[in-house]
Amino acid sequence: MSDVTVAVKDATPTVGDVMVDVHGVHKSFGPLEVLRGVDLQVRAGEVTVILGPSGSGKSTLLRTINHLEKVNRGWISIDGELIGYRRSGSKLHELKEKDVLKQRTHIGFVFQNFNLFPHLTVLENLIEAPVSALRRPRRAAEETARRLLDRVGLADKADAYPRQLSGGQQQRVAIARALALEPKVLLFDEPTSALDPELVGEVLDVIKDLARTGTTMIVVTHEIGFAREVADTVVFMDGGVVVEQGPPAAVLDNPQHERTRAFLSKVL
Ligand code: ADP
Ligand code: MG
Repeated sequence: MSDVTVAVKDATPTVGDVMVDVHGVHKSFGPLEVLRGVDLQVRAGEVTVILGPSGSGKSTLLRTINHLEKVNRGWISIDGELIGYRRSGSKLHELKEKDVLKQRTHIGFVFQNFNLFPHLTVLENLIEAPVSALRRPRRAAEETARRLLDRVGLADKADAYPRQLSGGQQQRVAIARALALEPKVLLFDEPTSALDPELVGEVLDVIKDLARTGTTMIVVTHEIGFAREVADTVVFMDGGVVVEQGPPAAVLDNPQHERTRAFLSKVL
């Protein structure tokens, strides 16, 4: 797979304060075109919330950003570095798996269903990747892990197993685990959709705290109140394209497109 090349004329990542640059991304599964030319820029330290109906391509977009899915056309860069490819002349060569994995350590991903390692304690969940992928000394990794658990309000759960925690607690562990790799950007795919309603707030509070401290984040969610309060930019996707984007007050209160209005009238 490392020898795959695709012709791309203008893969020139933006440098400066753009942390995530998604440029003309197309993605198909067989005949189904799921992303039909997505452009998105996320500045360092900003929170982008992606809204859109089911099937509009939100998860696929997040998965292309950390190269869990290859793109068919276009390119993505993070902090000025192409994701999944290296450029050579006008061609992009796909990176070797080990280099993709290395890039992925800079991109935190929090899933709807937590995805903790069930056979590891909370502390071990946080230490595993820093030790195995980043070769951090175990002591240092443990120190960081305990600090992060404290930050998400779970200092007393270090020795618990995931099954002993509520969904909200598991998701807070998952966020701490993502932070343990000191990612350049954190991607959230409907982080509260699997939670009982009374547990949603504690997870959103942790994400809000990260927003306040300048963590660059892309959050797919249906929580409109959260988007209004926390997002610097709200992006509305439908049918595999970005239909409109802007500050929350513009997109949520004064949407310009009929498709955005129709969606918001259902979820607000
Ligand atoms: P969203 O997250 O906005 O609900 P998705 O990105 O999950 O949308 O999916 C968009 C479309 O792509 C859906 O029609 C879905 O069935 C399809 N899809 C997603 N992943 C795959 C896959 N691995 N193989 C085939 N179709 C897929
Ligand atoms: Mg999805």
